Amino acid sequence: MDFTLSPELKQLRARTRSLVDDVLQPLELEAEQNGGRLSAEAHARVKRAVLASGLNAANIPTQYGGAGLNLTEQIVMHEQLGRLTNCLWVLVWSPSNVLVHGTPEQIERYLLPDVRGDHRHAYAITEEHAGSDARGIRAEAVRDGDVYRLSGKKWFVTDGDIASYFLVLAWAVDGLERQPTLFIVDKDLPGVEMTDDPDFTHNFPYRHPEYTFTDAPVPVDAVLGEVGQGFDLTGEWFIEERVHIAARCCGACDRLIELGTEWALEREQFGGRIFDHQAISFMLADCAAEVTAARLLTYYVGQLHDSGADPKLVHAKASMAKLIASETAGRVADRVVQIFGGRGYMRRNPAERLWRELRVDRIWEGTSEIQRLIISRGLERRGVPQLLEL
Ligand SMILES: Cc1cc2nc3c(=O)[nH]c(=O)nc-3n(C[C@H](O)[C@H](O)[C@H](O)COP(=O)(O)OP(=O)(O)OC[C@H]3O[C@@H](n4cnc5c(N)ncnc54)[C@H](O)[C@@H]3O)c2cc1C
Repeated sequence: MDFTLSPELKQLRARTRSLVDDVLQPLELEAEQNGGRLSAEAHARVKRAVLASGLNAANIPTQYGGAGLNLTEQIVMHEQLGRLTNCLWVLVWSPSNVLVHGTPEQIERYLLPDVRGDHRHAYAITEEHAGSDARGIRAEAVRDGDVYRLSGKKWFVTDGDIASYFLVLAWAVDGLERQPTLFIVDKDLPGVEMTDDPDFTHNFPYRHPEYTFTDAPVPVDAVLGEVGQGFDLTGEWFIEERVHIAARCCGACDRLIELGTEWALEREQFGGRIFDHQAISFMLADCAAEVTAARLLTYYVGQLHDSGADPKLVHAKASMAKLIASETAGRVADRVVQIFGGRGYMRRNPAERLWRELRVDRIWEGTSEIQRLIISRGLERRGVPQLLEL
């Protein structure tokens, strides 16, 4: 097993890094000081830079205008994006991978403009009574002639403020049949309303509002994939998202360790560098060892996926990567804040921002407990050897 990066992967890493360092990182403080928001001019500049870099829609096949990167390549890219604070990585858009299951008309109307960055969508699964247990959703779309009448309430709809359409997971009800289904729902349909817009711990470029759907008339041809495929498609989306999160957590750790090491070597107390107190340098040593383990696991999942391994096995291993990388990032951020002392508690310090922002990686796209549930089910169903062997 070879984990050295090929010249092509190194080139991709450098291309992403220059977008991160030259275009996005300079916007971090503006975002922080404005509750995450950036000016329209900054958004336009970033959009031009992302398109010029060719990293837009990196996960979408080239036939639709995306960069067509395999999962390992996406990991290389997301690692670099993870260095950013204020979740500015979200500005380098990757449309939901499941859109490729659309009909030719859906691809033309929704996916292609997403790929070009002309509009965005939001993925609405979570509800008041259905978080970790997505099967507990109550949203219903009841067949009524040529439309489904969609009713329900979705929480935490990331990008919901700027999205022009939603992928809504709901039960398609047709007579006695009731099947989990993904619907493409235009935001301007009657009966679609933003009903709450709470603030969160991080200052993110977009919002995570609540949406209420009241008898919204969703055309029957707005089903993505097939009626009944809602959970399967959402599972497909989760796997890719979890690997992206794992990769970004590794990149965040890299920046944190760089900042912490630089500071520890420079800062003097009690007549010498704080780095020379092993209480400090050993924290950095733990950070370096733990992120290397998380990174190897993440790249291994990428290789496994790209070699065409059993999707169920990839599912369990992607959960391992998300669990380990997000928990590692939480520890690394906490230690680096400690190494900075009072300066680590200042919002102008990227370590402070990452410490706050990385917290959600243990919650969204399945909490750490849910990743453990997936892994332990894998042990039971697929057997210990298959789950543990490389
Ligand atoms: C900033 C942000 C953005 C989000 N964006 C989106 C989005 O775009 N679209 C979307 O659909 N959702 C989104 N979410 C929702 C997110 O996916 C859920 O918050 C997450 O899945 C957890 O669900 P919950 O909050 O309802 O917690 P709950 O499911 O209520 O869990 C509460 C606690 O109980 C634990 N728990 C639950 N079940 C078990 C179990 N079986 N075993 C052990 N422990 C368990 C959990 O791990 C957690 O610690 C977002 C959330 C946040 C915070």
